[in-house]
Amino acid sequence: MRVTRRELLIGAGAGALSVLLASCTPTPSPTPTPTRSPIPLPTTSVPAPAALIRSRWGTDPFSRGAASFTRIGVQQATRDTLAAPVDGRLFFAGEATDTQNPGTLLGAIHSGESAAMRVRATAAPGERIAVIGAGLAGAAVAAKLADADIEVTVFEARDRVGGRAHSDLHDDWPLPVQLGGWLLPAPPATADGTGTGTDNGDGEDRADAIGNAAATTFADLETVDLTSSLWRSPDQDTEHIGNTALETAIAAAQSLPADVSLTEALAETGADPDQPELAALLAYLTTTSGADADTVSSWFPPALPAWARTGILGDLGEYVKQQLEGTQLTLASPVTRIAYDDAGVSLRLGTGESTSFDRVVITVPLGVLQREGIEFAPALPFPHRGAINALGMGHIETVWLRYDEPFWDTEATLWHAVDSDQLVRTWINLLPATGENVLVGILGGTAAEKFAELEDEAAALAVLTSLELFAPSAAPE
Ligand SMILES: Cc1cc2nc3c(=O)[nH]c(=O)nc-3n(C[C@H](O)[C@H](O)[C@H](O)COP(=O)(O)OP(=O)(O)OC[C@H]3O[C@@H](n4cnc5c(N)ncnc54)[C@H](O)[C@@H]3O)c2cc1C
Repeated sequence: MRVTRRELLIGAGAGALSVLLASCTPTPSPTPTPTRSPIPLPTTSVPAPAALIRSRWGTDPFSRGAASFTRIGVQQATRDTLAAPVDGRLFFAGEATDTQNPGTLLGAIHSGESAAMRVRATAAPGERIAVIGAGLAGAAVAAKLADADIEVTVFEARDRVGGRAHSDLHDDWPLPVQLGGWLLPAPPATADGTGTGTDNGDGEDRADAIGNAAATTFADLETVDLTSSLWRSPDQDTEHIGNTALETAIAAAQSLPADVSLTEALAETGADPDQPELAALLAYLTTTSGADADTVSSWFPPALPAWARTGILGDLGEYVKQQLEGTQLTLASPVTRIAYDDAGVSLRLGTGESTSFDRVVITVPLGVLQREGIEFAPALPFPHRGAINALGMGHIETVWLRYDEPFWDTEATLWHAVDSDQLVRTWINLLPATGENVLVGILGGTAAEKFAELEDEAAALAVLTSLELFAPSAAPE
């Protein structure tokens, strides 16, 4: 492997490289100032990108993680408990309250639609309803209530809508930089029927069902199909091992007397979770579930990896804005306290103002509820507090790299690092499908948690070092 010594300069106008280090940290929290001094990097065979943008959802006060997951020993019905209305005044939505597709874009939308139905069944004509959070769930609630001529006011903590669906637009990027959710299982026509092999009980492949639903939901947005994959170890390029080991382990775990982790379930069926190909598959799984295999339930496991995926290239913020048409939207207005009684609900905002409504729909992320980002008066009932603490908040982070010239020569769109201890093990190559020299790294679980904590320079170093495996000079003979 030929190795060149490089120095990475981080910061606008730094000459050799301008790396745009964007954070998801919202207003009013401070955004990090780009580092302007040259940062020496150790030897790497990977050239420095023209621009780099990373997410930091783990440290973001308005998300505190990326996606909810079901911990070992926790029932999926815990999500229904979380979704249950409190005294007919407080309603809950958000991906964590969805039992079918938790932790996803579609789950968030579905949860919002369900919450809107619950509100409509309770509210009298002329009532004022508040929705807290303008992510996909909040937008779905608000749209359904507005359709029913109910007056809705949406309070959003950030200065933008979309929440964990964040299409970051920059003049010098050819595509929206999707810092949050943007990937879905491909619809069956694209996936050629491969799906995940996970049956949803109706005889229809679960990934196919999700893929179809996603294609309908986001029909107006530009998408790209990501179908071919590369599984690379330092010694060889391998075929992917498929989901059979995971499916076997999950099926066997269903008859165990107690729930065990996915890692234990694999071991129970004779699989070795440390075997390099299986470990790479589990690393891929964490990029969608947000949680390591030794922390997730095997009774209620996360959706298994889809081999063909659809990426949304359109502006998800625009999609959310369209949903919010006809509602009153207040940005940069974090809700800090919710007081409720028989007469109604009073909201206190971070700005110091208070305002009253008949009912409120709370769509803030599970991580925000876990960290007590909102005070409830009186405290939420025990079942709700129990559910908030029982569910897990997983971590997913992403890093987008734009190059003037590609340094890679593979046409594969989904890259997986096998037998690697690097931080970023899953990559998306957007060049074949879009013609743009853009690579997207995705991390999940502990790796993502660690990545979010890294300072910008250390994060950039981890990213470039992780890419070394995919440089042509590293390709196995
Ligand atoms: C990096 C990453 C990658 C992901 N990848 C995928 C993927 O490929 N496919 C997929 O399907 N899903 C993915 N997801 C998950 C998906 O993005 C989420 O499930 C979905 O966007 C959640 O929507 P939501 O409306 O439930 O929550 P959010 O989008 O988080 O919306 C909640 C809103 O509440 C606001 N808020 C928080 N606190 C307050 C407060 N105190 N007052 C007022 N407002 C507040 C927040 O700012 C936010 O706008 C990913 C997530 C991340 C972070």
